[in-house]
Amino acid sequence: MTITDIKTPAYVIDEKKLRQNLEILQRVQKESGAKILLAQKAYSIYQTYPLISQYLTGATASGLYEAKLAHEEMKGENTENHVYEPAFGDEEMVELCEICDHIVFNSINQLEHHRPVWEKAASEGKVSVGLRINPEFSTQDTHEIYDPCAKGSRLGICLRDMPQELPQGVEGLHFHTLCEQGFEPLETTFLKVEQEFGRFFPEPMKDNSNKIKWINLGGGHHITREDYNIEGLINLVKYIRQTYGIEVYLEPGEAIALDAGYLVTTVMDIVKTEMMPVLILDTSAACHMPDVLEMPYRPPLRDSEEAGELPFTYRLSSRTCLAGDIIGDYSFDHEIQIGDRLVFEDMAIYSMVKNNTFNGMALPDINILHENGDVEVLRRFGYEDFKIRL
Ligand SMILES: *Cc1c(COP(=O)(O)O)cnc(C)c1O
Repeated sequence: MTITDIKTPAYVIDEKKLRQNLEILQRVQKESGAKILLAQKAYSIYQTYPLISQYLTGATASGLYEAKLAHEEMKGENTENHVYEPAFGDEEMVELCEICDHIVFNSINQLEHHRPVWEKAASEGKVSVGLRINPEFSTQDTHEIYDPCAKGSRLGICLRDMPQELPQGVEGLHFHTLCEQGFEPLETTFLKVEQEFGRFFPEPMKDNSNKIKWINLGGGHHITREDYNIEGLINLVKYIRQTYGIEVYLEPGEAIALDAGYLVTTVMDIVKTEMMPVLILDTSAACHMPDVLEMPYRPPLRDSEEAGELPFTYRLSSRTCLAGDIIGDYSFDHEIQIGDRLVFEDMAIYSMVKNNTFNGMALPDINILHENGDVEVLRRFGYEDFKIRL
């Protein structure tokens, strides 16, 4: 089977592109000594975890389910499994201590509440515990809902709420403040953290038993984007490791599968309106690419331009009854016909993990385009997948 004869709507993961991204990330690990984790929140197609684990140090999870998925599917002798969540349940903590090697807490309350459980696992050398801090340093103003440093944020402990000394047993600090950003915002954020949280970092010739052993610089780094300053990142990681003698983790999500997937859709009808013709597609922004409405953004579409640039402009919309389920306006060099196929690009990230069946919409198949050109169906969904969640 090839990409032209798959059933639509369908996601297609591009194995070759995925590997190319992983090669870049592996180079960063090798040259800087950083340890890079897949943030599963962005991309959880576990059928590709065997490939990913050949390149990366492991995975990180936003909670128990993602942590279990990595535990089951991302194998390897030294593969690491990290977890962070604003609040953990009591039974969850017991299970997480069995399957995770790094646990990051969002507050001193949470750390102390779960202490009896994690402290035992830590004393047996099974888990290393960290605290998420909030450097209160926004480096973006485009996507406020994706800014953990926005005013009133619940994510991470601010400097004024940190104790003078690291609480007993804490070995790491974690911050996550970026979203789809280059290297420079990371550098300025780290410099602020170094200055303000410096008392928790080891110092030469001192007793460093209650200082951090690792720091996690979070995600939001677009490392695999063409214009990313990889040398800058490598130098920063080297600086941190050499100056403080601590491990440095990065946990990007997007960067792992950036541009490594498509959403293939078919034009089912064309409706004339007083503005422009509307294409009714067998996909939906609300169900299959919710970030288009949430972020919002205009997904790239193969062989098309901005509205009005080419002779034939259409509004691309969906077969749901949500009036605002509009993907965007695009132009083409030819007239579009019912039955044509369109291909949305960069659809591996924050898509399949966010799918829903609102409006009784079918979930798209999940396919993988192998490096030899063959397409394999990884998952096909049906009516039962809709019913089972109700
Ligand atoms: C979302 C998230 C990530 C991954 O972010 P990307 O923007 O996909 O790179 C990493 N760490 C934490 C704590 C997150 O919430």
